[in-house]
Amino acid sequence: MASDSGDRGTLCTLEFAVQMTCQSCVDAVRKSLQGVAGVQDVEVQLENQMVLVQTSLPSQEVQALLEATGRQAVLKGMGSKQLQNLGAAVAILGGPGTVQGVVRFLQLSPERCLIEGTIDGLAPGLHGLHVHQLGDLTNDCSSCGDHFNPDGTSHGGPQDAERHRGDLGNVHADADGRAVFRMEDEQLKVWDVIGRSLVIDEGEDDLGRGDHPLSKITGNSGERLACGIIARSAGLFQNPKQICSCDGLTIWEERGRPIAGKGRKEPVPRPAHL
Ligand code: ZN
Repeated sequence: MASDSGDRGTLCTLEFAVQMTCQSCVDAVRKSLQGVAGVQDVEVQLENQMVLVQTSLPSQEVQALLEATGRQAVLKGMGSKQLQNLGAAVAILGGPGTVQGVVRFLQLSPERCLIEGTIDGLAPGLHGLHVHQLGDLTNDCSSCGDHFNPDGTSHGGPQDAERHRGDLGNVHADADGRAVFRMEDEQLKVWDVIGRSLVIDEGEDDLGRGDHPLSKITGNSGERLACGIIARSAGLFQNPKQICSCDGLTIWEERGRPIAGKGRKEPVPRPAHL
C-alpha cells in the first residue's frame, strides 16, 4: 500500500545533484533536511555538488525539501545498503492523455523490492497500479496484456497471499492530481519485471473484494491511463567508475535514459517524456 508518511520501511540512499557554490549553500541544504522524520543521514559534498540522503521517504519528498532552499535538485542515483548488485529498474509512464510519471524499482534484498515514484495528471483519489505481463506498447497501454500473474492466481491486494504478482494496489493522488508513493513488496522482484510494463488505472482497485465480475481479474480499476516499459536502469551497476563507496555504503548512479528495448513481446521504445 502506498505510504505518504514514508516514516516506515527500509532505508535506502538517494544521490542528488544540487547546485552549491559555497559553505552557506551546504549549510542551507543540511538545514533543509535536519530533523525531518524519515531522514536518517545526510552527507553533503560541496566539491562534487552532491548530496547523499539515507532515507525512508519517497525521493520526490526529499527532492522537494532540497528545492525549497531555492536550488535545483536532480535525483541521480538510488542504492541500498547491500553491497550486492541486486538490480534496479525504472518505468517512464505516459499515455494518450496528460498522465505521466516516473517509477523506480530497487531490489533492497532478495526478499524485498522497493517501488517508489511520482505520477502527475491524475484525478484526485485512488488509482490502481499494476505490473502487466508484456512490455508491448504497440497499441499504447492496451497491448500490455493482463496483470503479471505467473502463478495463475486471482487478483488481490498487495498484502494478500493470493494475488497476482503484479498487484501493487492503489496509489493516492492529492488535490493537485499528483501521487507520490513508496512501497515495499515481497512478491515482486526486479528481475521478474524488467521488460514488462507498469500501468496506472483510472479508478480505484477494489483489491479483489468487490462484487463486479472484473473484481477477481483486474480489481475493476477502469481504463488504463498511462503505462511504460519497465527497463533496467541505464548505467546502474554496470560501470565501476560510477560506483562510489561512502562510509560503507555503495551508491550506484543512474545516468542517461532508461533502456526501453527489452520488452517481452515486440516492444516499441517510446520517446521519454522527461
Ligand atoms: Zn491483478
